[in-house]
Amino acid sequence: VSPSADDAVRAAAEVLGPRGVFDLPLGSRTTYRVGGSARLGFELSEPDDDLLAAEAVAAARHLPVITVGRGSNLIVPDAGFPGLALLVGTAGPWGRIEIDGEGLVRAGAGTLLPVLARRTAAAGRSGLEWAVGVPGSVGGAVRMNAGGHGSDISGSICEATVTDLSTGVRAVRPAFELELGYRRSALTSTDLVVAAAFATGSGAPAASAAAIEEIVRWRRENQPGGQNAGSVFVNPEGDSAGRLVDAAGCRGLRLGTAEVSPKHANFIQADPGGRADEVIALIREVRRRVLDHSGVDLHPEVKLAGASWDDLG
Ligand SMILES: Cc1cc2nc3c(=O)[nH]c(=O)nc-3n(C[C@H](O)[C@H](O)[C@H](O)COP(=O)(O)OP(=O)(O)OC[C@H]3O[C@@H](n4cnc5c(N)ncnc54)[C@H](O)[C@@H]3O)c2cc1C
Repeated sequence: VSPSADDAVRAAAEVLGPRGVFDLPLGSRTTYRVGGSARLGFELSEPDDDLLAAEAVAAARHLPVITVGRGSNLIVPDAGFPGLALLVGTAGPWGRIEIDGEGLVRAGAGTLLPVLARRTAAAGRSGLEWAVGVPGSVGGAVRMNAGGHGSDISGSICEATVTDLSTGVRAVRPAFELELGYRRSALTSTDLVVAAAFATGSGAPAASAAAIEEIVRWRRENQPGGQNAGSVFVNPEGDSAGRLVDAAGCRGLRLGTAEVSPKHANFIQADPGGRADEVIALIREVRRRVLDHSGVDLHPEVKLAGASWDDLG
């Protein structure tokens, strides 16, 4: 950590007070369960903690900041994250779900998607059943436009409440402003999703419950368990990333403690106690081999804390 980065972290810590934690383990909070610590961590649990976080960012010039939900689409390098990590959990409003008479479902950013799917289904609202298969939070899912089983966030989101950490302004942004596309949105690392609202239809709880159980069964049969972040690469137009990885001979490829899943070629597994840098190196190696083999440059869906894949070259 350079002296100026450390000054920035100290300035932010002063704003956060005792709730700002130095050297907070971060990798262990991801589904890869490997990787280092955040120089400073802050758990958002109270109603205006997003605004407090923005104040901390404003107090510290050039402080790298990252928001972490469930960590199910994130790799933290072994060297850690040099700035402020904002951790969105399920405490207080962050994990609250409210359903109004018209079927509008409001959920705090920390709400787990499987909980959202089951809760809305049980309340007789349909349309979010697919979310039971995605082990992330609402905030991470909005940022990623997560989806599966023929649906995604863009299919039902009406609006998101977003705090711009660089200005401290919290605003309700209508869905079109989020520019949701295939596993992408217009949100950047300084946009913190606080909550989102979804339109649902009226449904029969038993039918929704059956759909949910079918998705859970399908996932269990078709996806590996263990330490991973789901699909590593987004599917290129008209093709499947898993098929290309397989065709390049990478299924089962191992680099130290990281392995391309023998069960699903677009999943990379970390061994217990493994190294994040080996997961990162394996992703880059698979990308290189697929480019050599088929001429297709696969783009990682998984986010890298503190860097972009293109920075790595
Ligand atoms: C077994 C498995 C299966 C999966 N299957 C699918 C699937 O079928 N479809 C799919 O789309 N994804 C899938 N994923 C990936 C992942 O679950 C989704 O991308 C999920 O939406 C990420 O949410 P998260 O809270 O874990 O985000 P994180 O991993 O914590 O973060 C991901 C990105 O979102 C940002 N972010 C997180 N929270 C916020 C917030 N509140 N405000 C602003 N930005 C935020 C982070 O900074 C980061 O850039 C799977 C993952 C696993 C482990």
